[in-house]
Amino acid sequence: MAKEQFRLASRMAKLGTETAFEVLGEVKALEAEGKHIVSFCIGEPDFDTPANIRKKAVEAIDSGDTHYTGPQGKIPLRDSISRHMKKTRGLDYSRDDIVVTPGGKLVIFSTIMALAGEGDEVIYPNPGYPIYESAIDFAGAKGIPLPYLEERRFVFELETLKGLITDRTRLIVINSPQNPTGGYVPREDLEELARICVEKDIMVLSDEIYSRLLYEGEFTSIATFPGMKERTIILDGFSKTYAMCGWRLGWAACPPGFAYWVTRMNTNTVSCAPSFVQTAGIEALDGPQDDIDSMVAEFKTRRDLIVGLLNDIEGVSCHSPKGAFYVFPNVTKAVKDLGFADAKELQEYLLYQGNVAVLHRENFGRKNTGEDQEYLRLSYATSQDNIRKGLAMIKAALEDKEKIASFLKAKGAKE
Ligand code: PLP
Repeated sequence: MAKEQFRLASRMAKLGTETAFEVLGEVKALEAEGKHIVSFCIGEPDFDTPANIRKKAVEAIDSGDTHYTGPQGKIPLRDSISRHMKKTRGLDYSRDDIVVTPGGKLVIFSTIMALAGEGDEVIYPNPGYPIYESAIDFAGAKGIPLPYLEERRFVFELETLKGLITDRTRLIVINSPQNPTGGYVPREDLEELARICVEKDIMVLSDEIYSRLLYEGEFTSIATFPGMKERTIILDGFSKTYAMCGWRLGWAACPPGFAYWVTRMNTNTVSCAPSFVQTAGIEALDGPQDDIDSMVAEFKTRRDLIVGLLNDIEGVSCHSPKGAFYVFPNVTKAVKDLGFADAKELQEYLLYQGNVAVLHRENFGRKNTGEDQEYLRLSYATSQDNIRKGLAMIKAALEDKEKIASFLKAKGAKE
């Protein structure tokens, strides 16, 4: 449908998207044609939601727990979240400072809309989750990309960050463990960043959605450093940890007084998260955690498997990430040696000729100035069998020089 058809408001030109969903559309179209695609695209656990949580939701529906709740979320759920924040981060939040949202994603939008507008600058991770950039643009603020560097195991450089801060910087978005790289910001860097934020009076949106998916060491939140709880909004949720992506449930843990504004955004948009889903959320946090522990253990095994198989492919090198369920292999050598223009073309070849779906780096933001390497993102939230099969297919596709040549020739002829 033509964009001009509706005489859209000019602000819509600033609304970005998550292009990963477009690739998902291509995968579905190929599958509809009868092709079998092994997909590493989607950032969603392949496990079912644990049975105790499902049961609670069904009971809640049957008992009439189907009405609006207050826009801030049910008090018993906010109390559970407070206890969870204490247990997982050692942080004390009163129920007044917690806002329940339908998915953590809304916390990104609400926080950025509340804090940044015309003339303000927001520093955000690049490569990074694409919704940060979209929300910053939509809010009318200026996005300042902060490179997450392979040579630092996909963490930013403090010196670079310091150089990006100006007197217009309102907010710094951090995400650790990170999507798409799996990078984890070490405690020392968080401590220094905290010191800078306090000194310069800058707020932080700390996206901690993958905090339970950390395979080495203890998770540290930036809000635990002196002066930071007062200036940090923590985003967390149930999608990744409890395999509850489709339930849409997340939360913001806010500095005193800020919950009012996140709540007000709820009131203006979604009213509240679904009532019975909130009830199931209490069970998720307070119920047995054995299923979660085994999911995390399985993700770790898959990480080791996929990293090993990637490093076995000529022209590909891959760090072992500390958290989340993504790997971000460097494919520069493969791209160059095999004659692809870039990782985007490699993604296309792998999908259409290799039947494997992966995402190229620019699905996670434009390249940083001076960035000359090529990357793919693979989600390993899929079975070990799929990982073995898919990686064998990638390896075979990259070794098939004839197939590559005819793909590139056909593409050249089309252009
Ligand atoms: N933040 C990051 C970094 C993510 O990768 C995602 C989902 O992929 C979200 C936030 C949002 O998760 P949800 O809205 O499902 O809670």
